[in-house]
Amino acid sequence: PARATSGFFRLMRRRTFTSLSLQQVRIMTTAHSFKRVWLVTGASRGIGAKIVAAALAHGDAVVATARNAQTVVERFGELPGLLAVQLDVTNESQAADVARAAAEHFGRIDVLVNNAGFGVLGAVEEASADEVRRLYETNVFGLLNVTRGVLPFMRKARSGHVINISSVGGFRSGAGFGAYCSTKFAVEGLSEALHAELAPLGVKVTVVEPGYFRTDFLDSNSLVESPRVIDDYAATSGEVRKLAKVYNQQQPGNPELLAVAMIKLVEAPNPPMRLALGTDTLQAIEAKLAYVKEETDAWRELSASTDF
Ligand code: NDP
Repeated sequence: PARATSGFFRLMRRRTFTSLSLQQVRIMTTAHSFKRVWLVTGASRGIGAKIVAAALAHGDAVVATARNAQTVVERFGELPGLLAVQLDVTNESQAADVARAAAEHFGRIDVLVNNAGFGVLGAVEEASADEVRRLYETNVFGLLNVTRGVLPFMRKARSGHVINISSVGGFRSGAGFGAYCSTKFAVEGLSEALHAELAPLGVKVTVVEPGYFRTDFLDSNSLVESPRVIDDYAATSGEVRKLAKVYNQQQPGNPELLAVAMIKLVEAPNPPMRLALGTDTLQAIEAKLAYVKEETDAWRELSASTDF
């Protein structure tokens, strides 16, 4: 029976092989030569570009997506492990096409980094409906577009890791960044639910909360400052507007080390659901936890008074 079994497998192997097209064989070879296949959004610059560089240096394959794919080619050149693809995350059908092309090119997608995003600076009342809508189109609906495109491949493989780049502002909000923080609170809410839904299917989810990192984030080529200024907010949002200019390119966070942390994250056998990055984030999280505890304790009696 042993000989019969091995003969059967030999036959199956031969049959399987001859039924594969040359292209499929090439894909299988490509997929097996890399430990992991990443798909990164917003790879043209900043954190996204650093993550692409770190993953390539680690010997992984990367589908680096950007609104202008040429920016990726100019930065990294042409490499066998790199596929530069055009993707504006606000374009739902383009996101689905890119996910399909990525899975076809490398045979699988192991890590999705939802990184593309930007900030709006101004008091909640100062930000126009249009500014807020455009912010949600990228930071929230864009992230959902790409996630919906990629998840069918990860679910089918019963493996993968979705990394959603949130912010310290996804854990605590504050004057001047209310609209932006609200998009990152949305990212946190979606990530927690995705974590619960995907864990039984073998797909990991981590929401990453960077503090202030030295990228273009606070620069006028990324940050949108609401043109409407209301004098009553001078001491709150107005001060944050000034601070953002002082902080620009002086942020404490090093994006290269953030990228190194992403490699450690995907290598971890039990990655966390939430990962804070930067000492400023650690401080902000601890301060918020303490404040929430204090306020919850102070109002416990009223909070507990409403059950039937
Ligand atoms: P950068 O401004 O340096 O880079 C932003 C990236 O997002 C660019 O690649 C930009 O592409 C891309 N992008 C913006 N909109 C879209 C879109 N519609 N479709 C595709 N790509 C888009 O900022 P960071 O690298 O710092 O920001 C990356 C992520 O990190 C963002 O989600 C941000 O909210 C988050 N973050 C950053 C912090 C920081 O201090 N730096 C702190 C906390 C969170 P293009 O070149 O085409 O404009």
